[in-house]
Amino acid sequence: MKFVSTRSGIVPTSLDVALAAGLASDGGLYVPEQIPQCSLRHAGATLADTATAVLAPWFAESKLQSSLAELCADAFDFPAPLRPLSSPGDHLLELFHGPTAAFKDYAARFLAGCLSRLRDPAASASTTILVATSGDTGAAVGAAFHRRDGFKVAILYPDGRVSPRQAHGLGCFGDNVRAYRVDGSFDDCQHMVKQALTNAELRARVPLGSANSISLGRLLPQTAYYAHAALEFRARHGVPLNFIIPTGNLGNALACWLAKRIGLPIGGIVLASNANDVLPRYFNGDDYAPRATIATLANAMDVGAPSNFERLRWWHRDDAELRGSMRAFSVDDATLRDTIRRAPDRHGVVPCPHTAIGLEVLEQLRTDGDIRPWAVVATAHPAKFETIVEPLVGHAVEPPPALATALARPATSTPLEAHSKALCSVLLQE
Ligand SMILES: *Cc1c(COP(=O)(O)O)cnc(C)c1O
Repeated sequence: MKFVSTRSGIVPTSLDVALAAGLASDGGLYVPEQIPQCSLRHAGATLADTATAVLAPWFAESKLQSSLAELCADAFDFPAPLRPLSSPGDHLLELFHGPTAAFKDYAARFLAGCLSRLRDPAASASTTILVATSGDTGAAVGAAFHRRDGFKVAILYPDGRVSPRQAHGLGCFGDNVRAYRVDGSFDDCQHMVKQALTNAELRARVPLGSANSISLGRLLPQTAYYAHAALEFRARHGVPLNFIIPTGNLGNALACWLAKRIGLPIGGIVLASNANDVLPRYFNGDDYAPRATIATLANAMDVGAPSNFERLRWWHRDDAELRGSMRAFSVDDATLRDTIRRAPDRHGVVPCPHTAIGLEVLEQLRTDGDIRPWAVVATAHPAKFETIVEPLVGHAVEPPPALATALARPATSTPLEAHSKALCSVLLQE
């Protein structure tokens, strides 16, 4: 299987090249020439087994094919339970049981495993993984590459726009992982990373890699937990499972769409956005119009220009077809607060602010008379956002053990101005 760019400016290339590069040299996103089909009829015994089976067609011609089972065993070694909520047909797909308590742990660990194995053992200079984060990506990528031979990590996050615990989680690694607090928004951070990755002169001097959700090494593994949940659900209930996905940069939701497209039993897909409503506006008929980011309580979704939209568009003939493939809703902060406040009574769970947006959308669908089985994707553990969640639910939310360990370590970060030159100069100094 060969991969091309959404901007059509490269010759078809292998998965291994696409994984190592992250972003295509013309600035576009890698996409397969054709989407493979997955013949899997039943979930594997474990999530890792399902992941191996679902990813196999993509890796058929990769150097990593023989390591795929091992890669999946390493990345998918914590569960993704589908927990029934209080009302019949309502579920939570809990993706926050990993080391940094957010769904991004799965894909970050998978990508780190791929890049380690693809690395030329004779290379002397280490590769610096650049990552722009609105909070959780940086921690997941930092954890996945921490003390990995041959790699450094530079994490860029918008200063003051991540929770105190998130900031701590980004700065607590040390060793080969460095956190930069950027005087700007997440979109600025993302722009700086894109500029650096497409700067050939810089890359000739400093080997760079990407780990953002634009990387195929992040997108593809995320199909696994949708596959596993949907196959198990159909085995038990005989019908497809529908998903509501808290969405920012559109990586997680795109993986759900891809899982459906390769043939898995997934019904409806609904994107749940915060007040950054570029996607809901588009799906309701407006032109696609990226805009400046608005800061919200669900900060990991504060994205005004969702990168993966370029892939979604590439995979559809026209706007009408794309708008038919999913729906999207926006939830403002005031509504989100109410949803968190009533979630313990109404649903039997304490959600993080991102997950709460999904729950709110579920409530709206139920009010509109939708009786299908839905799974809201729980993207992070509420203890990561304790300053928001605890006052609303009226009690402390204990961090899970891995998060507690990270919080006990000291943390530091380096200030950085929000322009590409500032990033280039720190990368050249290192
Ligand atoms: C990253 C993140 C999201 C948004 O996921 P995308 O793949 O960027 O759409 C939602 N919730 C949490 C907790 C996140 O960390």
